[in-house]
Amino acid sequence: MKDQKSCCNATVHHQHMCILKEKGMTEEIAKYSNNPTVECGICGAKANSADYICTPVKVWEEGQLS
Ligand SMILES: [Zn+2]
Ligand SMILES: [Zn+2]
Repeated sequence: MKDQKSCCNATVHHQHMCILKEKGMTEEIAKYSNNPTVECGICGAKANSADYICTPVKVWEEGQLS
């Protein structure tokens, strides 16, 4: 059975933005999204790095993205 509430796997992705958002961990969210470069393609959560997102989508095409 699949849990469709989240676009993220909470067991292995405990630091991902989607999970933090679901848990309401606003402090962590603020820490990891104060300078966002990517966004979750499913739920729209923003993060500083693709490391915190399962399905990262670039939000800024221009700039220092490598
Ligand atoms: Zn994830
Ligand atoms: Zn998401």
